[in-house]
Amino acid sequence: LFAGEVTFLKGVVAMDGLPPDDRPEVCFAGRSNVGKSSLINALTGRKGLARASNTPGRTQEINFFTLAESHYLVDLPGYGFANAPVAIVEKWQRLLKQYLSGRASLRRAFVLVDARHGIKSVDEEIMTLLDRSAVTFQAVLTKTDKLKASELDKVLDQVRGKLAKHPAAYPELVLTSSEKGDGIPLLRAIIAGLA
Ligand code: GDP
Repeated sequence: LFAGEVTFLKGVVAMDGLPPDDRPEVCFAGRSNVGKSSLINALTGRKGLARASNTPGRTQEINFFTLAESHYLVDLPGYGFANAPVAIVEKWQRLLKQYLSGRASLRRAFVLVDARHGIKSVDEEIMTLLDRSAVTFQAVLTKTDKLKASELDKVLDQVRGKLAKHPAAYPELVLTSSEKGDGIPLLRAIIAGLA
């Protein structure tokens, strides 16, 4: 799947802009700065494909990429900006809710969690939304290269404990480092297996 072409399709700001749900789709969610763009770029092998969402003004766009003309990869806006205006946050939450609850072709959501920080309350909010929307999600730890094995073990305990409370959580975690390439082949294989 990832050996084929990856192309940017469109950025969507409202439900009527969504492409037809005619193929399997996976989405990526995570707090701003979690390493989502780096991960998508590592997965697709294309630097600069996903741009870091560094400003709250860009938080509303849902970006669609086509994988080998057979799947969609969806980059959801980063959440948890400290200074994002309330109106923007609300508009984004509405769109996110509509997207997650109404997308028949969505096979799995990957919720990115910074390995240094574990699951935060904003992550729990999106996980609860995924539970309610009955979208299976899988936690992906990012930046694992920044931790020692003992530190990582502690975070894994925290993450597993919190995931156990979410009915839509897929139990298997994916540990990644975009910097070192760890976990990238596994994540590609998981996505390719979601027909
Ligand atoms: P986004 O806002 O979630 O898209 O986050 P970015 O992909 O822009 O990454 C945020 C910061 O974390 C950047 O400075 C990246 O260089 C850094 N980063 C991302 N992934 C990794 C990783 O796997 N290891 C390390 N050490 N740093 C990373």
